[in-house]
Amino acid sequence: MNLNGIKTIQPNVLQQTKPTAKPAEEQTAQVNAEPKKAGDGGALKSYFAAGVSFGGHHCKTSNFEPKKLPDVPCCCCGRPMLREQDLAVCKKGVQSTSGDKLAATLKEYSKYMRSDEKCVGEILANQAKKSGGNVSDCMKQTGGNLRELTGQYANGILDKLNAAATDAYKSDENPVADLIHQAKEGIENNRGLDRSTFVAKLEKVGGKLNEEQQAQLQDIAMDLPQTFNHVQRIYDKYENKKPEDISRRLFSTALTTAEHIHPHSLGGPDNTANYIAECAGCNNPRGNMDYADWLKVHPEYPRKAQEHIEHIEARIINGEIGSDYNDWPVDVKASLTKESGGRMKLQVLNPDTIANMRKARGTTGNVTVEDVRAAYEKQEAEKAEKA
Ligand SMILES: [Zn+2]
Repeated sequence: MNLNGIKTIQPNVLQQTKPTAKPAEEQTAQVNAEPKKAGDGGALKSYFAAGVSFGGHHCKTSNFEPKKLPDVPCCCCGRPMLREQDLAVCKKGVQSTSGDKLAATLKEYSKYMRSDEKCVGEILANQAKKSGGNVSDCMKQTGGNLRELTGQYANGILDKLNAAATDAYKSDENPVADLIHQAKEGIENNRGLDRSTFVAKLEKVGGKLNEEQQAQLQDIAMDLPQTFNHVQRIYDKYENKKPEDISRRLFSTALTTAEHIHPHSLGGPDNTANYIAECAGCNNPRGNMDYADWLKVHPEYPRKAQEHIEHIEARIINGEIGSDYNDWPVDVKASLTKESGGRMKLQVLNPDTIANMRKARGTTGNVTVEDVRAAYEKQEAEKAEKA
């Protein structure tokens, strides 16, 4: 697709790029040459001693295969992630355009921006349409007015949220409207914006709505910038930088990283049972924060982790990730359950089901997330029959 004559990345362009030169099976054979077993001692022993089944094979974060695939949704925020080579394409598109073309490019790639960057991206796109400048010009032109522009952006998200809530509550009184009114007043009167507090309140007033409706409202609210200061910090550091530096900064938080479920600094081991694929924007700020605190910052995490696991399961079955990862879903479920003190309740396919689906794939073509869900239900029905 060409948008105003700009060559754009479509999701399927990223998908068409083959992740690695070697077949996945061959790679994991190497990675798995010296698998570590439970009870090897040290960090492994202390973390996995109590109640986590250990089947993960030892690898470095750089060898973690889900990191090498295009368009994997982040395990925490659920937004699509980028590999370095994908980021280079986004960066080039933004740094080499100006005016309407820059605005269109920023809009096209905004799905790869995290919330604070998305706010900056929209402010820059609006300015580019007005002034015709490049990304550096637009940053200099909007820096003096940043608080007002961020407020306008946040109000737009709140309006979208109000429309979705009005629709969800239909004829009933919409309790979200009051909350939105308060948030808008806070922005207007310069009291600021705090997404965590807002989303926590949103969760409390979400009565009468089903899970899907609540999830929809939460997803819209998570597009708010975290705080005014988070947006200001990007400007403080990049306002006088070159287009290539600003462009990279807009997308660098979307880079795929391997996150240690139990923090490395607290003895979390380097193996697939302790890794999930997470964007740099989610991974870096967590540090070794406790999951109870982390779930306050990212209340959508359990839901997005479920989607992430289903996505990766489909790609394991499709052979894009080696068969040594057949155990990954059950391992990672155990790790996430333990780390979150039971707050993460996940549904995963067992290794046998994955192995059978991998075999069957030759005749059925590519497996989708919907197939994975159907397989999970079948797996549970079989389990119930045996019991
Ligand atoms: Zn993320």
